[in-house]
Amino acid sequence: MDIQEFKGSLETAIDFFDKHEISLLKGQEVARALCILSLSSVENGIDVRNIYFDYQEIYKAVWGSEVEANKASQMVRKHSDIIKGCFEADSELNTHLNANGNAGLNLQIESTKGGHKTQIFLLSREEKSKDLNRQGPIHVISYSPVQLPKVYSLTKPFLDLRLQPLVFTAFAMILITIAVVAFFSFIGFINWGSKPLNIVIILSMFPAGYVLLKIHEIMEKGVTSLPIFMAPVTTRNAMLVLTKERQNDQVALKMKAIVYDCKCGMCGENILIEKSREFRGRYIGKCAVAPTEHIYSFDHVLKTGKFLR
Ligand SMILES: [Zn+2]
Repeated sequence: MDIQEFKGSLETAIDFFDKHEISLLKGQEVARALCILSLSSVENGIDVRNIYFDYQEIYKAVWGSEVEANKASQMVRKHSDIIKGCFEADSELNTHLNANGNAGLNLQIESTKGGHKTQIFLLSREEKSKDLNRQGPIHVISYSPVQLPKVYSLTKPFLDLRLQPLVFTAFAMILITIAVVAFFSFIGFINWGSKPLNIVIILSMFPAGYVLLKIHEIMEKGVTSLPIFMAPVTTRNAMLVLTKERQNDQVALKMKAIVYDCKCGMCGENILIEKSREFRGRYIGKCAVAPTEHIYSFDHVLKTGKFLR
């Protein structure tokens, strides 16, 4: 998503609400609050993928006080028809945005499961139309990074993690130690005295080995599929990528958990990112309906893919 474009849309939207002649309905106030919260996050340099709010934050922004999660959710959702209505494709707000040369806004609500808070956020509507890539050459596709549908608390730090080489090396050393100890326990070289303890230590070899393989891959390719325990297994195109970012003359190495949304340039169907044996272990993008015909490369730095065959 183009951050400047998104910012422009939010500013125009806030203006639109502020200039409304009659007083706003509660649902419209919520919509306005969402724009204001999003804009201030953008201005604070927060990555678009990490801009989302829960009912409590929204409640506080509109009603001015803090209440418990259930009450906030109940109060906000009372107005959900109006809130959603504000962000529909042909809503008054989106018509106004388009007339002003801004991209429309789209409301996304990712509901909860297993105690995680509902994530409510705005996206630029342009995304939808860009997805199909109709104007561009069909041999180049673009991967748009999107918010992980569900963020486990374990995954949260990885949404934008600055890598510190020492910490990272220490972490890898610990994993290697676990794997080595587990291996020696397995071949009977080390005996822990109790059978259950032995088994637990031997079994720890698998998660430690798995994470080490992931670390190896991300070091080698700069990208790996998101480890299975970091997102629901059904999450498509969830990746862990390495990026370099400049921050006041300093280069920061970052590790980020990202989901990519991408459409096939030939037929417009979803692209699925996977590791391919045919392309010597590279991650590639395969069309969901023509996986043997519509195949693209996956460049996590440029966020583009070229037609491979
Ligand atoms: Zn296709």
